[in-house]
Amino acid sequence: MRRTCDFCFRMCSIEEGKRGVCGIRENRGDAVVTVNYGQVLAAAADPIEKKPLYHVRPGEKTLSAALFGCNYSCRFCQNHDLSQKDSPLFPAPWKRDQERTEPKQQVRRMQDCGVSVMSYTYSDPVVWQDFMLDTARLVKEADGINCMVTNGSFSPQSLKRVLPLIDAFNIDVKGDDEFYQRYCGATLKPVLDAVEKIAKERGRVMEITTMLIEGIHEIEDVYWLGRLLKDAGVQVWHLSRFFPHYHLGDHNPTSEVFLQQALDAAESCGIPYIYAGNSGNTKYAQTRCPECSHVIVSRRGYYVKIDRELQNHVLLGRCTNCGASIYGIY
Ligand code: SF4
Repeated sequence: MRRTCDFCFRMCSIEEGKRGVCGIRENRGDAVVTVNYGQVLAAAADPIEKKPLYHVRPGEKTLSAALFGCNYSCRFCQNHDLSQKDSPLFPAPWKRDQERTEPKQQVRRMQDCGVSVMSYTYSDPVVWQDFMLDTARLVKEADGINCMVTNGSFSPQSLKRVLPLIDAFNIDVKGDDEFYQRYCGATLKPVLDAVEKIAKERGRVMEITTMLIEGIHEIEDVYWLGRLLKDAGVQVWHLSRFFPHYHLGDHNPTSEVFLQQALDAAESCGIPYIYAGNSGNTKYAQTRCPECSHVIVSRRGYYVKIDRELQNHVLLGRCTNCGASIYGIY
């Protein structure tokens, strides 16, 4: 009997014994299962800035965890070894008996690292959300914070499941619909629907990342996306430089000059916090108060400086200069 997977916007109807588009959700007859549930391929304590998340406990570390899998086929994928079906790590049917990490072991790992923030990242946790949610439930019981770094292509049902347990999201918004179809084998609409929904959810933090590929993205695209994101209620937007990867290995990296033009365009759209990624641009690494421009958090690479007075205010989520509220979890 065919069964439907509702983990992402594709809502694959899967024949018995077969897998959906992502290649890791399989119809085993009585249910659709994640074939690599618990097969954690990467787990490392990273600066939270690396996700990037600039408005969640700045300066702290997070335990990053990833299983294999993604429902997109981005030609420029930065982590294709953990996500694309041509990777030797792809969980093929003949590789079933791999070591399995239970969610409680994953949480113990986080505690052993001395951190209280878990990030589901590197590949796309949308397609292994059962393992993510089982772990996230235990993280909450341990008074921790859950962060999801994702392409945001939820189904409405899966977003409803994820929202109560995930405190902070970094969502890639990659370009217009033509870009999604041409370079990612996907579509923009479900991502925008999720962005709008999360922006309205009380107590949730969302940061958007757009990786700009000079020669493919135009500055006009930045204006267009910026207006769209502003209307959706987005507060934080990271614009990052592309470096050659995977099937776009021959494409030139994005220049700092192009990135600066894009940052200027982004600022004019009215989103309060704009950041530069994969860049030496230190001005756009700082968190400034949107009311008085006072620097709340300064960053140099992954070195983050919050002085004692600032820290007290940041913990309260207030600007030290004018007292305005600062978006985020502190
Ligand atoms: S996660 Fe998405 S791509 Fe994978 S089987 Fe489910 S609906 Fe299909």
